[in-house]
Amino acid sequence: MGLTVTVLGCSGSYPSPDCACSGYLVSHDTTHVAVDLGPGCLSNLQHHIEIPELSGVVLSHAHPDHWVDLTGLYVALAHRYELEGLPVHGTRQNHEMADLLSAGVHPVFDWHVTGDGDEFAIGSLRFRLSATDHYIETHAVRIDSPEGTSVAYSSDTGPAWELSALGAGIDLALVEATYGTDEEAVGIKHLSAAQAGEAARAAGARALVLTHLWPGSDPAVHARHGEAAYGAPVTIATPHERYTL
Ligand SMILES: [Zn+2]
Ligand SMILES: [Zn+2]
Repeated sequence: MGLTVTVLGCSGSYPSPDCACSGYLVSHDTTHVAVDLGPGCLSNLQHHIEIPELSGVVLSHAHPDHWVDLTGLYVALAHRYELEGLPVHGTRQNHEMADLLSAGVHPVFDWHVTGDGDEFAIGSLRFRLSATDHYIETHAVRIDSPEGTSVAYSSDTGPAWELSALGAGIDLALVEATYGTDEEAVGIKHLSAAQAGEAARAAGARALVLTHLWPGSDPAVHARHGEAAYGAPVTIATPHERYTL
C-alpha cells in the first residue's frame, strides 16, 4: 500500500459541531503515525486503526487544538493495553505540558524533544521539521515514504514562513487556511486561503488541501480564494477523508 493521509480533525483553533481539531493519520504499510492529535482525534482515529497499531505520534506545537488527545492516548496505552515505549516527537512545551497532565509520560511514551530542521524516522516513514511563523515554537512537518512520495503539513503559521522550507517534490500539501479572506488575516500568525494557495504554488506542491478553517467559515469562500492563488483546484479537508499517494 502507498502513502495515505486520513484526516482525523481539521477545525481551526477549537472544535466545531461536526469537526474535531487538528490531527492526521499518516500510514504506509504497517506504519501508522498520528501527526497532531487535537480534541476529538483519538475518537476518530479508532474508526481507522486500533490504538495498539499506532507506530508513533508527531506533535507540531503546544496549542491545545493540536495535541491534548495525547492525554487520552496515555490512559489507553497505560491502563487498557499496558503498552510502553510509543515514540512521541514534540516541542519542549509539548513535553512539559504532557508531563503535567499525565503524571509522568515515561515509560508509556518514548519522548523526543523536537527542534527546527530535525529529521527522524518512525517505521517506514521519514520526517523533517521546519519552524514556522507562529505564536509559540511550532514545526511544520514533511513526511517521505520509501517510494519517494511526500506530504507536507504546515501546521499553524503566519505568512513569514515558506512551505518551500520543507524542500521540493511535495505531492500533497496540507496547508492551514484559518481565514477565508486576506482582510481577516491581517497581522495574525495564521494564513488566509489565498496565502495558503500562494505558499503551495511557490513550493511547487502537486496537490493542495486547505485545512484548519475557523469554525463557522464558508468553505466555498476558502476554495475560491485558495484556487485563485494556487492556480488549480483545491480540496477542503473534512474529517475521515483519505488521500492516497
Ligand atoms: Zn491551531
Ligand atoms: Zn497554533
